[in-house]
Amino acid sequence: MFKILLIASFLFSSSSFSIGKFNKLKKACLKAGGHYFKKEKECRCLQERMVFTKIDPKKETCQNLKRYTHLIEKQKLKCTMPSEWYCVNQRINGANIYVNRFQEFNRTMKTLLKNTKMPKIPVDRPLTQEEKAQLQDYETNRNNILEKYYYSEEKFLVLKKTFATAKADLVSYLLSHGLKNEASIVNSVSLKFGIERKTSQTFDFFSEFADYRGHKNVYIRGNIVLYDQFEVMYYTFLHELSHSIDPCTFDQFDSNFTNNSFQKVLTCLEQNNTVASKKTDFECFEKKYNEMLSAGKAPHFGLKTAMLDKEKGSYCYRKNYYQSLWNKNDKQCSLYQLDEVFSDWLATQVIFYRLRKNTKEEMDIFLKPIANIYCDSNNSLADLKSNIARGEMIAENHPIDFHRLNAILLNHPLYRKANHCSMLEINSQVLIGRILELSEITEINRFSRYSQYCEF
Ligand SMILES: [Zn+2]
Repeated sequence: MFKILLIASFLFSSSSFSIGKFNKLKKACLKAGGHYFKKEKECRCLQERMVFTKIDPKKETCQNLKRYTHLIEKQKLKCTMPSEWYCVNQRINGANIYVNRFQEFNRTMKTLLKNTKMPKIPVDRPLTQEEKAQLQDYETNRNNILEKYYYSEEKFLVLKKTFATAKADLVSYLLSHGLKNEASIVNSVSLKFGIERKTSQTFDFFSEFADYRGHKNVYIRGNIVLYDQFEVMYYTFLHELSHSIDPCTFDQFDSNFTNNSFQKVLTCLEQNNTVASKKTDFECFEKKYNEMLSAGKAPHFGLKTAMLDKEKGSYCYRKNYYQSLWNKNDKQCSLYQLDEVFSDWLATQVIFYRLRKNTKEEMDIFLKPIANIYCDSNNSLADLKSNIARGEMIAENHPIDFHRLNAILLNHPLYRKANHCSMLEINSQVLIGRILELSEITEINRFSRYSQYCEF
């Protein structure tokens, strides 16, 4: 009796506290002209075409939202950071197809799935028979819906055609550099529907575009099906095809990349004056592993794999399903990123190989839909700050969008040349001097990482 009473009073006091606190936030949010998101307990401003930006209603309002790029005079943008002189125009036009479609997709799926819920997957033990059956039910139900509404025969034909173009371009790029072996590996990769791999945890529509998993296939299993722009599909396929020859697929037990045709590039991509691809912090993983053991918990099966990989001498460990291992504010162990960084780099190389004779205007038209996906995460100074901070905190095998855009895609020498900007003009001092608003993030971001592009 006492126990129940105690729990009841605890629940009462904690919930009344939070309701009061969030009511205040809601009020302030509405006053600031924002929309209050109850579930996320966040205040957001609606911008053009369904793009929402998070704000702190006590410090800013939707009207005077600090969209830092809007405050910068155009001539000051010249030759600073690619996203500054690129995303600004996109934002003024307000185009962001990604968020829009993604939200629409989520709503549709929610309605169609009705009462079927994704079961919770435990991290420290295998699934029970009952959970397995529940998960399978959910998967079947969801896959049927996806197949019916999104993975149509028609869509697949378009994807197939784009895939063939991407593959042909990548192969011809590799051959132009005399890489016959790599070209023939890429040539043997084929395209499959994600749904053809009916294993449960491998289907991730929500966070991935497409997937390459070392089986000589690229799987259409992600939100690439929400797009109909050639450029987005093309870039995505180039990235996935590049995984067939990435450093983890090739020689994962050789950290010097000897015998890898891209040895020089790989070493370069890890340097601090480039994208600064992260390495796996095995010591950190080992500590986590031992912590779990001494707390009497069975370590996550992925953690065991990490330890085994380390013993074998692999430096490629990059499983990102670890997210569930950490508490909300923990600094997570860093993961290997070079396979992802390499795939971004090679995709970029092929794009500019394709655009090498084009004008700046033609390049812009081609790059616009692709860069738009990345522009989204630095829509406001607040967004950018939280993205950079998050990039430093979490175990993630892709660099944050901002770095993928500034250090790789739009940092290509051909694009900078088309804009009459040399590489040398970007260094952190120049950037800070020219873009005052960026001084607010100098403490958490190293601008020098945009100062070099790794040439083949
Ligand atoms: Zn990838």
